[in-house]
Amino acid sequence: MNYTNKFKNIKLSTIGLTHALFSPEFFKKSDADKQSQMKDWLSAASALYGVVQPDLVISNEEDVCEDGGQYYAENWHGTIVLPKYSVVSLLHEFRHHLQADGKAHRSFRDSEDREHDARGWSLSLLRAARPSMLKQSVRKGYIMFVEPEHLA
Ligand SMILES: [Zn+2]
Repeated sequence: MNYTNKFKNIKLSTIGLTHALFSPEFFKKSDADKQSQMKDWLSAASALYGVVQPDLVISNEEDVCEDGGQYYAENWHGTIVLPKYSVVSLLHEFRHHLQADGKAHRSFRDSEDREHDARGWSLSLLRAARPSMLKQSVRKGYIMFVEPEHLA
């Protein structure tokens, strides 16, 4: 399955926001700057979708690292936990936030279905916003579920 072309109708404002905040310069910044830039993205994206901005926590606990990221909807606003400053993981977990808030505008059969949706949304968004960044990450083997030929 090619997740990078699953979503063709992502808001242009979301694509523009993602393009603006996650240029290649992002990866040269300090951890503190990366964190604040990711929070800026969450703030603007939450406003675009009409949801409360989720918290962002960076944690190197074992289960977080194994999953590549987690989303908790237990508290009323949601928390995104990432093992590192991965843009694609941020987008993925934000999609779970939209799902939890009913802003994915569809119903889900099960957790597997939610995963497919989150992978498709995040990877389609990054492809639309920063295709060369996605290509580079795929070439380096950083992105699960995407093969180089998916981006040809
Ligand atoms: Zn997920």
